[in-house]
Amino acid sequence: MNVNKIQFILSRFKNKKKLFNEIKNIYLEKNNLISFNKSIPKKMDTFNKYDDLITKRIKYLLSVGFPNDIKNKIINALFKKYITNDEKDFAEKLYLNINELKEIKKLGNEIGGHGSKHLKLEYLSYQKQIEEILNAKKFLIKHKLINNDYWSFCYPHGSYNSKSIKILKKLNASCALTIKEGKINRKSPYEFSRLDTNKLRIY
Ligand SMILES: [Zn+2]
Repeated sequence: MNVNKIQFILSRFKNKKKLFNEIKNIYLEKNNLISFNKSIPKKMDTFNKYDDLITKRIKYLLSVGFPNDIKNKIINALFKKYITNDEKDFAEKLYLNINELKEIKKLGNEIGGHGSKHLKLEYLSYQKQIEEILNAKKFLIKHKLINNDYWSFCYPHGSYNSKSIKILKKLNASCALTIKEGKINRKSPYEFSRLDTNKLRIY
């Protein structure tokens, strides 16, 4: 998934400005500087609040700032250059497989949906959002990891809007998790807050 590729690429750069410039150079091979500058919003306060500004910009450009074809081209070029040529092998080692998921469920854990392509739902049309959520649901049902009328969802990147909630209700999801920090409010089951596990260590 692009989101993981971006994380691995970022981890190879101590100097994020260097990575930013490399992204810019690949972009400028076929596009102009005016459109590059237009792709970056002036304010980025709400986007990944724990990152520094340059990391925020990199993540923004490679997730929603650039059009899909340009974004994929840049991510894949950097992934090949800095991480590996053998994406299939890398993915097999990185991600859980079905049997591992079943084992986790058997041990009493909840397995929920997280979209089929891990896209930011708020930027998608109603129809595209249905696709994202329904395909994830179908996959989990096929492997007996959830029930048809009782299952949970977690918004990819914490991104959702009122359409997402409407779709989840229609598809019988019981609840959905955001990335807002706090205790659960049972009155808003499709906007559950969470506690950050990194912070739980101190208790
Ligand atoms: Zn995720």
